[in-house]
Amino acid sequence: MTATSRELVRYSETERGCRIDLSDNTNLWGAPPSVARVLGEFGAPELSRYPSAYSPRLKRAIAKYAGVDESMIVTGCGSDDVLDSAIRAFGAPGDLLAMQNPSFSMIPVFATVSSLSVKGVDRARLVDEMASLDAQIIYLCTPNNPTGEVLSLETIEEITSNANALVIVDEAYIEFGGTSCVNMLGRFENLLITRTFSKALGLAGFRIGYGIASPAIVSRVEGVRGPYKVSAISEVVAAGVLENDLEWVAEKAQEAVANRNRFARALNSLGFTPMESGANFLLIPVAEAREIESRLRDRGIAVRAFERLNGIGDALRVTVGPWPVMEEFLEALAEVMK
Ligand code: PMP
Repeated sequence: MTATSRELVRYSETERGCRIDLSDNTNLWGAPPSVARVLGEFGAPELSRYPSAYSPRLKRAIAKYAGVDESMIVTGCGSDDVLDSAIRAFGAPGDLLAMQNPSFSMIPVFATVSSLSVKGVDRARLVDEMASLDAQIIYLCTPNNPTGEVLSLETIEEITSNANALVIVDEAYIEFGGTSCVNMLGRFENLLITRTFSKALGLAGFRIGYGIASPAIVSRVEGVRGPYKVSAISEVVAAGVLENDLEWVAEKAQEAVANRNRFARALNSLGFTPMESGANFLLIPVAEAREIESRLRDRGIAVRAFERLNGIGDALRVTVGPWPVMEEFLEALAEVMK
């Protein structure tokens, strides 16, 4: 997987306007309750000025949520921004980035922009191959997008202790499953965890993400990221959610997990074999995924289709939301597969 930035194409956004959008793994229960109030209280005059350069109020709230010191937090315009900045900060042209295959599709894009080459590693050989590749950056995603697979702490620990690299662990879906490796940070100077407000925290429209790492990694990533990446309004809303809505967030995440398991059972009984998932989505292997996606779209339902995934083949990735929505999806799926 070596490309140049001239070959990159725009991210293909799911068409808007579907009655039911199960394509992007956001919180289908909506935004948390404090958001409307905080937006109402936000003074317009504040918006003629720049926000704080590195979001100290938000860092304090995140540090408390993550159980670390605020010197260990870097924020960004979505976790995309943190990932991109980290890859730019730690990768030099010609370096190698190693990652699971399949995994988050933006990582090869960020690597390519920084003139890194990318090597995708099969699940079965993850620990051994990560040790032998001698990459400068290792990217691990748990629960993984698009498979939903959870990596054990032992696996992450083994890879990190063997690595002579920056190890990025993307925990975008950690509120839905798996164990965070935040407790490993004290032992590993080369570890950067990234997370987002776009999934369980219900704030995808505000574009806020963060990284957790040693202060040395944080300041290197911030140096590359630059100031003012989190807007004033996003900082206030996100801090407000961490201060007021954690119960709501946990409740909805729990419901997503219960519905995910129920959804998996319902798919099994229709003859599908979704992959085991620790996230708020299921990956369902199906032949001709693009065709099925398009037939579902004709019925007003958006999902994400993948073609020829390594070791899996074609598959649909479907976000889990409130049960009535999943029931509508199941009915539509049974119809389009006839
Ligand atoms: N990491 C993973 C694994 C994701 O699935 C996503 C969103 N699809 C992101 C990072 C980026 O999310 P955001 O920029 O909204 O924080």
